[in-house]
Amino acid sequence: MKDYNYTVTERFMRYVQIDTQSDPESNTHPTTEKQKNLSSLLAEELQQIGLSDAHTDEYGYVYATIPSNTNKKIPVVCFCSHVDTAPDCSGLNVKPILHKNYNGDDIELPDDTTQIISVKDYAYLKKHIGNDIITASGLTLLGADDKSGVAIIMDFANYLVTHSEIKHGEIKILFTPDEEVGKGTAQVNRQKLNADYAYTLDGGEAGTLEDETFSADGVRITIHGVIAHPGYAKNKLVNAIKIAGEIVAALPTKEWSPETTNKRKGFVHPVAINGIAEKASIDFIVRDFETANLSKHEERLQTIAEKVLHNHPKATMEFKITEQYRNMKEVLEYHPQVVDFAREAYKRAKLKVVNEPIRGGTDGSRLSFMGLPCPNLFTGMQAIHSKHEWIGVKDMQKAVEVLVNLVQVWEKKS
Ligand SMILES: [Zn+2]
Repeated sequence: MKDYNYTVTERFMRYVQIDTQSDPESNTHPTTEKQKNLSSLLAEELQQIGLSDAHTDEYGYVYATIPSNTNKKIPVVCFCSHVDTAPDCSGLNVKPILHKNYNGDDIELPDDTTQIISVKDYAYLKKHIGNDIITASGLTLLGADDKSGVAIIMDFANYLVTHSEIKHGEIKILFTPDEEVGKGTAQVNRQKLNADYAYTLDGGEAGTLEDETFSADGVRITIHGVIAHPGYAKNKLVNAIKIAGEIVAALPTKEWSPETTNKRKGFVHPVAINGIAEKASIDFIVRDFETANLSKHEERLQTIAEKVLHNHPKATMEFKITEQYRNMKEVLEYHPQVVDFAREAYKRAKLKVVNEPIRGGTDGSRLSFMGLPCPNLFTGMQAIHSKHEWIGVKDMQKAVEVLVNLVQVWEKKS
């Protein structure tokens, strides 16, 4: 299985040069029209590979089918990754650099030499000594998140189509826009996709297999003050901005926040304050691996806020909870074969399986709750959403090998 080793890199280098940054402020689907530039190219290339139903839709999704080549009845498995890059860092004019035969030194990026990818910060570099790695040039992110996933799936599709001796069931390919702004599945056509199970390719180090995400809610606290002309406001005016400030100041500082927790601990995190003296709001995100804990966090937050309000009897408060996404494990538990087969595919690729919960969400969390159980597989991406972003070519090649193994495991064990 050597003949795909070159092409995944070649694809990746091409895809990252197409600017596909999504926009959290936009209300359109896709949030940025330019994401379609990559989507259209992918649909075209899938057509060229021979997948005759490959197409992109008005929202920038790409759908394609690799027909089954076995007589066995096997569940339809989908592979999914996202075409957009994060709004956190520029994705315009990405210049990917292929560092052949990496020697283990720190890497100074040529277009901004203050940007140094150091072995001290990224110990995983050491695992790539003697192999090729890819970085950006110092002014932009690289876009390995998630164009590595895209390149891996494209290369995998090409491999299957050109190797009919590999037996597999029907396979669906899905590329989504807007994952980075939380809308990756907003317009996905579940009926058209018509798959039973899915895997996202959106993970880090080789061997990582993620079947657990946070459960997530949003909370908005709205404070209504009392407005008066500031010149004649004595004993009348109640300033909502100041009350919002008091609530934030009343939050614990040594625990219960992203900056003080890791591993399996949840948190509450203020992400925005907006307002005027009359009315102010604070937006929070609430995260925990146990969905039941979300309401405990929310009650605690509400108690803190109410205590503050107690000192301002003329002010009122609204406390609104919005469900965001849920831990995929709650779904995957009922379909253990999805993760077990992936584990087997990793082992066949001689990878040590590292099973870690994601302190965040993926498209897979939402897909899982849309009835498509969907763990997350590695691509190798590192230092994502930053100018230091990099990826080892070997990891992308391994991921292609894993997918080729995985469809065979499904064929054999279903
Ligand atoms: Zn991603």
